[in-house]
Formats: sequence, structure tokens, C-alpha cells
Amino acid sequence: MFGAGNADADLMFIGEAPGANEDRMGLPFVGQAGKLLDKLLAEVSMDRKEVFICNILKCRPPDNRDPHPNEIEACQDYLWRQVDLIEPTVICTLGNFSTKLLRADSTGISRLHGYEEVRIIGPRAVRLYPLYHPAAALYTPSTLEALRKDFHRIPDLLALGPPEQPQSFEPIPEIDETPDEPDEPPLAVGEPEPAAQLGLF
Ligand code: URA
Repeated sequence: MFGAGNADADLMFIGEAPGANEDRMGLPFVGQAGKLLDKLLAEVSMDRKEVFICNILKCRPPDNRDPHPNEIEACQDYLWRQVDLIEPTVICTLGNFSTKLLRADSTGISRLHGYEEVRIIGPRAVRLYPLYHPAAALYTPSTLEALRKDFHRIPDLLALGPPEQPQSFEPIPEIDETPDEPDEPPLAVGEPEPAAQLGLF
């Protein structure tokens, strides 16, 4: 289940891994957590057609267990390529696993949610905006409240537009197309300079 949505989206959500429903339907976030995601998107006047939603793992871990490091590693090139192709302005990581992967750091979501930062992901700079995972908000009202508050800032982040991009390439030097003058034959020792010769006549 590689993801779904608008391939030109400015806003990308990255969750954890497909669950049983997602695996069966080939679509991300189709269960209760997905319904909450849809509701929050509607609250900011957006819907799934405008955004791209995917996960770090492209296959369902058995029994919905947490992703293993080797599984994350196996899938990550695919994810970087998705980010590269979609070129989002804002990436919302949903929960701990995607936040840690995209920030390459072990700081947890409860410290980071709701704080945006510019990060270089692949060749591009994006506004990274960690959010609580909607599944974590389903049964914990205080988490839902925090997720909703953070979510409502998304339109403002999108309105900022893309962050300044890194100058990743050295400028290519201009190629001088004019043919080189043929090299002057070296002067024999004792031969007068041509200009001096011309000056004689
Ligand atoms: N949880 C996720 O992280 N991703 C899904 O697609 C569904 C539930």
C-alpha cells in the first residue's frame, strides 16, 4: 500500500504502516483513525483529494505490531522518492515513527507536536510539522484536543509557501564556443618577434 492522493499536493501526511483495512483496500487511513483524519481535514476546509497520504512502511507488519528498524530501512528509499516526486511544502508526520525517521532523531512526538521547522528532506527543504497520530487521539480526549489545535495551524503553514531551497548544485560554468586560435609556432632562438618584424616595413 504505497499511498494515495494528489501527486502535486502541497501537503503530505506520513503515517506509520498500513493496518488490516488499509492492506485489504490498498488505501491509507481507511479505518477509525482515517475517519478522524478526514474530519480534521474538513475542519480546515480541505479533503483527501488535495493532499497526499502515505506511510513509512508499505506493507502491514504482522498483528499490527510496531515497525522494526530493518523494515523502516527497507522502505525508506521508497518514501524519499515519494517526497522527491510530490515536492510538498508541508509534511505532517503522524506519530512517533515517522517523526523520528524524518527528523533523524529520537525525540518523541509529545515534545515535538505542533512545532514546525524547516528540514532538508532529500534534495529539498520542507516545513516539517509533527502531529500526534490520529489513532492515539481516538481514545484520549487531551491528545485529540492537542491534535485538533495543531491541525488548525496547517492552513497558515501552507500559506507561508515553500521554504528557501538549498543551492544544491554548483553553477555550471559557461562553455566558450569560439574556436581557439591556433597556437603560435614557438619562436626559434634568436628569431625576431613578428611584431618587431612588421614594424620594420
Ligand atoms: N495507521 C497508519 O499509520 N497508517 C495507516 O494507513 C492506517 C493507520
